[in-house]
Amino acid sequence: MRSTFLPFCRPSIDDADIAAVEAVLRSGWITTGPKTAELEEAVRLRTGAAHAVAFCNGTAAMHCLFLAAGLGPGDEVVTPSMTWVSTVNLLELLGATPVFVDVDRDTLLASPEAMEAAITPRTKAIVPVHYAGAPVDLDGFRRVASKHGVALWEDSAHAIGTRYRNEEIGAAGTGIFSLHPIKNVTSGEGGVFVTDDAELAARMRRLRFHGLGADAHDRNQQGRSPQVEVVEPGLKYNLPDMNAALGTSQMKKLDAFTAKRDELVRLYRARLAEVEELSPLADPAWPHHHARHLMIVRQTDASPLSRDAFMAALKSRNIGTGIHFKGVHRHAYYRAKYPGAGADGRLAHSDWNTDRLCSIPLFPDMNESDVQDVVDAIKDSYSEARTAVATGAAS
Ligand SMILES: *Cc1c(COP(=O)(O)O)cnc(C)c1O
Repeated sequence: MRSTFLPFCRPSIDDADIAAVEAVLRSGWITTGPKTAELEEAVRLRTGAAHAVAFCNGTAAMHCLFLAAGLGPGDEVVTPSMTWVSTVNLLELLGATPVFVDVDRDTLLASPEAMEAAITPRTKAIVPVHYAGAPVDLDGFRRVASKHGVALWEDSAHAIGTRYRNEEIGAAGTGIFSLHPIKNVTSGEGGVFVTDDAELAARMRRLRFHGLGADAHDRNQQGRSPQVEVVEPGLKYNLPDMNAALGTSQMKKLDAFTAKRDELVRLYRARLAEVEELSPLADPAWPHHHARHLMIVRQTDASPLSRDAFMAALKSRNIGTGIHFKGVHRHAYYRAKYPGAGADGRLAHSDWNTDRLCSIPLFPDMNESDVQDVVDAIKDSYSEARTAVATGAAS
């Protein structure tokens, strides 16, 4: 057994990252300023997006997007239930209505057909998730959005560096990346909004900072008028330069990180191929480049362990795991608010995965022997459980 704990995720921070943050700390300007502009430019150039606006986290960017769209009571937004709670929480806070759709059982991606079927005259937007670093079928979603005149907002929190066919996620349309520490590239906390809509980008910049016409750096350092006024009420969701410098430094390593993640996933798949108790996620059928954000496995009917028992067994062997995600309709508040959400098997695949999935360790600083430790711990957990069952049956 491993003598040290292997977490399911750990950010890969090197000396260049530390030097970049230190330089900001010594510079005399630590909040939003030139380093945030640099990060926005790095994401813009990398993704091919026309506009990139950095936020203090991805959820904040999404909040401003929902405000910019004027979402409120009577408006519906279609979202998979298999997503992080950000989207649905924000809709609730604004008095709008989330409409849950199911996902493919083995990719956890929502289909354009499922989302189209959930569209009503009240629908304002559809929000597919590029799950675990795999792209949704964007061509299909674009057709559905334009056919019904609803907005398409991509939750690209897992998808920095993902390509759909030959197109980088973020190159077209409107979406949100997260730079949270578990994501493939991190700024500590952070998020970047991307869009090809210039007016929307300008509005997002304003909503990010009190609804003022210019931010603190413009006013204090660039000689702009300190008398700048509120154009509309906004929030205080700007990203400090301390964080942005880390994000820009990390962006330089995106391809190396993804290549390493891909190599680790290949090792896992080869070594778990004969473990019939587990079913890893499948890759989507359309051409793509996968960002390998998470290594998700599901307990099959052949497993002697429940998902929770499996996680506990790995933990006792010094292996960390996580849950990405529990269907939003299964959280306490949403169970009470929308008790019919999963009725009649409408969210059957989301429910199946909610009960069976967990993420096993995957981060660029892992090596082949770490993967082997995880595989050994998995096999050992199953064989111990079978022994316990056999012993129990005999007594
Ligand atoms: C991480 C995440 C977010 C939110 O990002 P934060 O930067 O943590 O606010 C949104 N959606 C999904 C699917 C995520 O995984």
